[in-house]
Amino acid sequence: MYFRIFVRALFRSSNVRCFSANAKPQFTADRYKIERYAYSKISKEHVAFFKELLGRNRVITDPEECESYNIDFSRIVRGKSNLVLKPKTTNEVSSILKYCNENRLAVCPQSGNTGLVGGSVPVFDEIVLSMKLMNKINETNELDGVLTCEAGCVLEDLDNHLATVGLMMPIDLGAKGSCLIGGCVSTNAGGIRLLRYGNLHGNVLGLEAVKANGDVVDCMNTLKKNNTGYHLKHLFIGSEGTLGVVTKVAIQCPPLPKAVNVTFLGLSSFDKVLKTFQLAKKELAEILSSYEVMDKLSLDVSVEQFALKNPLTSKDDGHEFYVLIETSGSNASHDEEKLSLFVEKALSDGIIEDGTLTSDPAKIKSIWSIRERISEGVLREGYVFKYDVSTPVQSFYKVIEVLRERIRDPRIIRISGYGHMGDGNIHVQISIPTYEPEIAAELQPFIFEYISSLRGSVSAEHGVGFTKTKYLHMSRNSSEIELMHDLKKLMDPNCILNPYKVLYPLKTSP
Ligand SMILES: Cc1cc2nc3c(=O)[nH]c(=O)nc-3n(C[C@H](O)[C@H](O)[C@H](O)COP(=O)(O)OP(=O)(O)OC[C@H]3O[C@@H](n4cnc5c(N)ncnc54)[C@H](O)[C@@H]3O)c2cc1C
Repeated sequence: MYFRIFVRALFRSSNVRCFSANAKPQFTADRYKIERYAYSKISKEHVAFFKELLGRNRVITDPEECESYNIDFSRIVRGKSNLVLKPKTTNEVSSILKYCNENRLAVCPQSGNTGLVGGSVPVFDEIVLSMKLMNKINETNELDGVLTCEAGCVLEDLDNHLATVGLMMPIDLGAKGSCLIGGCVSTNAGGIRLLRYGNLHGNVLGLEAVKANGDVVDCMNTLKKNNTGYHLKHLFIGSEGTLGVVTKVAIQCPPLPKAVNVTFLGLSSFDKVLKTFQLAKKELAEILSSYEVMDKLSLDVSVEQFALKNPLTSKDDGHEFYVLIETSGSNASHDEEKLSLFVEKALSDGIIEDGTLTSDPAKIKSIWSIRERISEGVLREGYVFKYDVSTPVQSFYKVIEVLRERIRDPRIIRISGYGHMGDGNIHVQISIPTYEPEIAAELQPFIFEYISSLRGSVSAEHGVGFTKTKYLHMSRNSSEIELMHDLKKLMDPNCILNPYKVLYPLKTSP
């Protein structure tokens, strides 16, 4: 209740918030006090080489045009690049990287720039390698359920394409309209279907990538079973552009479900959210495809910022927690009956306060948008300290309670949590009108140490990027980190690929 009153108070005096939400973030190098590695500076000769290779239109040097490639979605980082390259083919990517490697020019691969850990934009003047124009679908094999495409295809476009042949992508996330499949693969993105279909290490059957020296590694396997030698694709999945640039992928795609149902539930405590989860797993079993949770303050963001309607209106002051469950299967009446029985049981057991059920696609879409727009809505309030962490499911919400106890600064608008509870993955958001270094210091490293003490991970699905390099050792041991440095040295000896990200500082700096 305390927090809600605060939100209202700040909404009334909203001038400062609006300004800060539109202002450009401070340069990363200044805010985080980073020293530039000794790369070459981009010269006229370098630019001339790229113009010769790609043509003038695909080499961007205009500072205004470069700006959107320098600022990330959450506006937490800002680079200073004055050169954006837009290759259209693997050969062009190869020629660019070969040249950059020989000339010690650093490169930041970028796809949809929706990443949330500052990995997709340069820190200094790294060349931005935008993958947006590599967007061809190569093959759709309906029988095997395998799609092969270039890395720059937009996730939502792929899903729409697959729907025409009765298939769908095994991955879905709020940024689907902007994120590219190569970006998803490079971050091993999770999202709302992971509970049912697993992660991209399993679903990506093969890929093509270009190494730092320009060599093309062709691992375009399309078989589900192929245990011959090392599975090299895994080096590129989730390595966030530090070991190579992904140019093509082969991905297994499940059949498009014939029946999709959604229930949206209101609950009074987190304990009841856990009980509902257990019940859902038991009662819905094979048709359960998403189990998403948001607390009241998270729901308020979508409802207030985008004038969305809370589908549950039985209580004036809302519910403490909301759960969105999606089922997908092949028999509409069977699935509807199963879901209705589950909701009835949850109501009669007294673990949910209210609920609504629907199979109407328009209603499903509007319920999902409440969940999916939280992350966008919170940015309208100013700056947000955002953490994507995972814990054993039992401890999912503890971090929010602990932070509310610890951080009682009156400038804070809200401390809220939502996420993919089925995967033990919570997104923690601390909203504040502008970035405040002393709040940052109160939050970090505390939050990561706390998550570590719960045997959780400091990054559940967004990766390490720029913002989590200092905390990698909290989720990976020294033998693992040692091997990561060895691999980096082997695959990118001049360290030109996405410097200052994932492994930083590097053991052998350029
Ligand atoms: C509203 C919203 C909702 C989100 N929901 C989720 C979610 O549910 N689950 C989740 O996991 N993430 C989520 N994200 C985070 C983000 O969308 C994912 O990390 C996504 O995979 C990033 O894809 P992108 O195309 O935008 O990549 P970018 O942000 O451009 O890049 C991400 C990283 O990959 C590297 N990279 C990009 N392309 C390539 C390439 N072709 N080869 C090598 N390296 C490359 C970049 O250098 C960077 O380090 C969300 C983000 C937003 C804004």
